[in-house]
Amino acid sequence: MNADVIIVGGGITGSSIAYGLAQRNQRVIVLDGEDHDYRASRANFGLVWVQGKGANMPDYQLWSRRSSQRWSDFARELFDVTGQDLHFEQRGGLVFCLNDEELEARRTSLQKLHQKLGDDSADWEMIERSDVETLMPGVKLGSEVCGASLGHRDGHANPLRLLSALQAGIQKLGGTILSTRVQTIQRDGGGFSLETGRERYSAQRIVIAAGIGSQALGEQVGLGVPLRPQRGQILVTERLIPILPLPASGLRQTREGSVMIGATHEDVGFDVSTTGLAAAKLSARALRVIPALADAKLVRQWAGLRVITPDGCPVYAQSKCHPGAFIALCHSGVTLAAVHAEIIAQAIVDGELPSSLKVFNQRRFNVPQAA
Ligand SMILES: Cc1cc2nc3c(=O)[nH]c(=O)nc-3n(C[C@H](O)[C@H](O)[C@H](O)COP(=O)(O)OP(=O)(O)OC[C@H]3O[C@@H](n4cnc5c(N)ncnc54)[C@H](O)[C@@H]3O)c2cc1C
Repeated sequence: MNADVIIVGGGITGSSIAYGLAQRNQRVIVLDGEDHDYRASRANFGLVWVQGKGANMPDYQLWSRRSSQRWSDFARELFDVTGQDLHFEQRGGLVFCLNDEELEARRTSLQKLHQKLGDDSADWEMIERSDVETLMPGVKLGSEVCGASLGHRDGHANPLRLLSALQAGIQKLGGTILSTRVQTIQRDGGGFSLETGRERYSAQRIVIAAGIGSQALGEQVGLGVPLRPQRGQILVTERLIPILPLPASGLRQTREGSVMIGATHEDVGFDVSTTGLAAAKLSARALRVIPALADAKLVRQWAGLRVITPDGCPVYAQSKCHPGAFIALCHSGVTLAAVHAEIIAQAIVDGELPSSLKVFNQRRFNVPQAA
């Protein structure tokens, strides 16, 4: 099968880019792995999150802002194409602080980031307990909550609806999605030939967006990026009446009423088991914020693997030795979906990433080791 662009990986990252390409009249094929693959897109928390992002790379903060600014239009366009509501809301997001040290540490880290950016735009503020109470009249806060950081650009969406809408959108716009695992990528004339063991697919351009499976594929076209899986576990309660009007880092209420509690950050390799220890830790912290959650039944717990680059920031690059081969990696695919569908998709049509994205090139990891 032939296409203008083949996207390897149909998670939120690959599907966002494929959707943007299909909107730009490209013939796209998405080759999306097999049943037992690791799939971050089916395990995540659903935040569209800006505050605090990019402490070690301020461009990542700016990139997240660009995406959050576009998210509302992006969600509306996807609704127009597919009729699917992503349950997107953007009224700000909170990070709760449970003592003065946490509050000061949070203030200092956000101030440092904004000093690096040379901006003191009022897109975040530290708020006191009484302000949190005003924002959340439906909950009685735990006695330890002394305040929070409030990010005005933050929001949340239903990530499974997002993935489903993107995949429906790709197909409505003429694209093809197939469940099959790419084994080898080879140069073929002016383009690329991808082998799955059963079939061969050809395209002028390819995008590797295979999450944690991207390292082995990238190495075949000069786009090797050392990746690390990081396990995140999430708890979900039964449906409750609306109590949380704003999402928080680690606590958000879905449109259906479930409260999601998460997520852990665990370096345990490719182990996607859930653990009692994580459930205990996550629920203990949640109860310190909202004690009434003690009466809610937990109905689900799951684990997924984040896709972590060496500095935790995204990678976007085109191969120098195999022009036409691109790679896209990140661990905030929900947040960045809007810029992936627009800016990254347009760059692939143009055959060149904009110079503003050079900072995200994978060559930043090729630092010679000290003897
Ligand atoms: C616990 C947790 C919480 C998170 N919370 C948030 C959040 O609140 N907000 C946010 O923005 N992000 C969050 N994330 C991150 C987010 O889920 C990911 O960034 C996003 O899903 C994008 O993933 P992806 O498409 O890059 O990878 P994946 O979803 O892993 O998709 C990769 C795809 O590639 C396919 N594949 C792999 N190898 C091959 C191959 N050889 N051939 C063909 N296909 C292949 C796989 O089948 C898979 O479908 C969270 C992640 C976790 C784990």
